[in-house]
Amino acid sequence: MPTRPARDPAEITIERVSVLYALESEATPLVERLGLQEQPAVDPQLRPRHFAGTVGTLHVDLLTLGRDPRSGTERVGTDAATMGAYMGVRKLSPDLLLNAGTCGGFEAEGAAVGTIYVSRGDLLFHDRRIPIAAFRQQAEGRWPGTPAPRLAQAIGAREGVVSSGNSLDCLPGELEFMRRERVCAKDMEATAIAQVCVQCGVPFVAVKAVTDLVDHPEPVQDAFLRNLRMVSALLAERMEAGVRWLGAHPRRAGDL
Ligand code: SAH
Repeated sequence: MPTRPARDPAEITIERVSVLYALESEATPLVERLGLQEQPAVDPQLRPRHFAGTVGTLHVDLLTLGRDPRSGTERVGTDAATMGAYMGVRKLSPDLLLNAGTCGGFEAEGAAVGTIYVSRGDLLFHDRRIPIAAFRQQAEGRWPGTPAPRLAQAIGAREGVVSSGNSLDCLPGELEFMRRERVCAKDMEATAIAQVCVQCGVPFVAVKAVTDLVDHPEPVQDAFLRNLRMVSALLAERMEAGVRWLGAHPRRAGDL
């Protein structure tokens, strides 16, 4: 059977965007701002929340990762993110996938609560260690995001390195890795989603808003819980600007 030539992701014209959030509290303010309507679950088992609407020339789908069936808490972390991203790509065929959400920031990189980052360069995993040379790249991720300096400007975000792992706190070795790599945003989903997008040929950008500071004496969970609502509202305001910029006229993924 003849295989279709893979399309160059930079040449994709963005007419459909999927925005993937982990937490409903992060997503709800953008659903309200864009007037998106809830859709039937795209998957009856995982039951992510799915909202959709139109913004200018753009069809917008917004997905969350659903809830843990035992505890009822929202799904977070890289396994849920991988499943959610693959499902979103297969069912919704986006021309661009955005992962929006909160993150830990770094005072050493000039961040404060409320600073917003758009992913720059490769996305990393800071908590995967396989000390065998051939497996190192797989462990550390290093999945390229789509460069998006103009989108960052439309959002009012800085560009910075994003790294994902499966813990809210962090071990000394992980902190050392993130310092070395000049990581600006530490989250639990973005790199897993980047990995799916690269392999499926879908342009990918992460947009992360700082709720807590990793290199600060206050435990991150305290700052995270205190700031989640306020920072999610701020992120939604900036995400609305970004989505409206994307919907002003069709843009190539290479022109983000
Ligand atoms: N109990 C919380 C659990 C959220 S886990 C709740 O449900 O309200 C933290 C989430 O915020 C993850 O989705 C992660 O991507 C993001 N996040 C915010 N600050 C983070 C940090 N310092 N490290 C890792 N992830 C962080």
